[in-house]
Amino acid sequence: ASLPASEQALIRRRQQALGQAYRLFYQQPLHLLRGEGVWLYDAAGQPYLDVYNNVASVGHSHPQVVAAIARQAATLNTHTRYLDQGIVDYAERLLATLAMPGYQAMFTCTGSEANDLALRLANNFSGGQGVIVSSHAYHGVTSSVAACSPAFGEGVALGPNVRTVASPDGYRGNAQQVAEQFTCDVQAAIADLQRHGVRPAALLVDTLFTSDGVFADPPGFLAGAVDAIHAAGGLFIADEVQAGFARSGSHFWGFQRHGVVPDIVTMGKPMGNGHPLAGLAARADIIDAFGSRVRYFNTFGGNPVSCAAGMAVLEVIEQEGLQHNAHVTGAYLKAGLQALAGKHALIGDVRGAGFFLGVELVTDRHGKQPATAAATRVVNALRERRILLSATGPAGNILKLRPQLPFAREHADLLLDALDAVLAAL
Ligand code: PMP
Repeated sequence: ASLPASEQALIRRRQQALGQAYRLFYQQPLHLLRGEGVWLYDAAGQPYLDVYNNVASVGHSHPQVVAAIARQAATLNTHTRYLDQGIVDYAERLLATLAMPGYQAMFTCTGSEANDLALRLANNFSGGQGVIVSSHAYHGVTSSVAACSPAFGEGVALGPNVRTVASPDGYRGNAQQVAEQFTCDVQAAIADLQRHGVRPAALLVDTLFTSDGVFADPPGFLAGAVDAIHAAGGLFIADEVQAGFARSGSHFWGFQRHGVVPDIVTMGKPMGNGHPLAGLAARADIIDAFGSRVRYFNTFGGNPVSCAAGMAVLEVIEQEGLQHNAHVTGAYLKAGLQALAGKHALIGDVRGAGFFLGVELVTDRHGKQPATAAATRVVNALRERRILLSATGPAGNILKLRPQLPFAREHADLLLDALDAVLAAL
């Protein structure tokens, strides 16, 4: 089916007004007008099951979050240089989820800015400049964090003080030795920095390795690498932009699955359920060392409306038992995907935690060659069946399932049935 003329015209205007750097999803682009819960609706009122948007994490247009934003926007919106109770209440509640006494919060508007600030804190505290990231990491769009994001590929150069380590890939590598291998690689990266006269500042990782291809297991594999960066005088920065806010199901934060204590935790995406709210939590001595030298002001970061949104998100996660749902329904979905792997040879591996799952498609199970073209076809065929998801990983062959936290068994069943049919028809 070709697109209606009105949408073709909108695409042309969009290209004219926004230019080349913006990309649309799908061969048949989607024009959505409304969202509610786990559903999105197009101009014709057709529902789409959203298994992609982890930003509207507590559900699209959640009434409690919308009301909190509207109430605060109608009352007062300023910035962090006036006394305001909302930011203090919110910071206290947010820090309580970490259960790490002595940490403090700082607020930004995007995950990129949060990582950028985390690197500034780490450079300042450690006196070093070296940063270690995984080989297909994505940490954001500012110059400093883009230079730590090999996922951009050739278009963006890594910083001279950035070193990469192999993804902790238990599917292609040795599943029994993920921890040893990752620790060893981080130690080698530290040694390489030192050999070049660069003091290590930080190990920065997305705790579910989502752009690397979703690597969650075995829990605990990060511990040795964290010890290694600490021994070298650097900090461990847990990038929780993807993994945080209950997504991994068993824990509120992704790093908690590994039993490690980050020096800095960065967060974003689901933090305001779509309202641009991000930030970090760090040890007070790290923030002191920075704050005593630098005056930090972020015009929009931590404003009263953002804090009201963030507070409502935390309340909804708790009131609706969403972490528990991510845990149990995520396990149900994963088991369903594993059952599909028993039927369809294209599925090489099913992995992930809670509501962040990866389904790796391969052309043959022995050679494990990435089935990139098939993944693109599956994503587009599911879109035809009005189910939205995408693919990730260096070869784009890993289906990425990231539903909203209220996603229920009935939604999982819809997805599993559609995926079964699409795989059968390939
Ligand atoms: N870190 C990770 C792990 C991310 O996935 C992203 C966004 N995809 C970012 C940081 C950057 O966040 P933002 O787009 O809000 O700047």
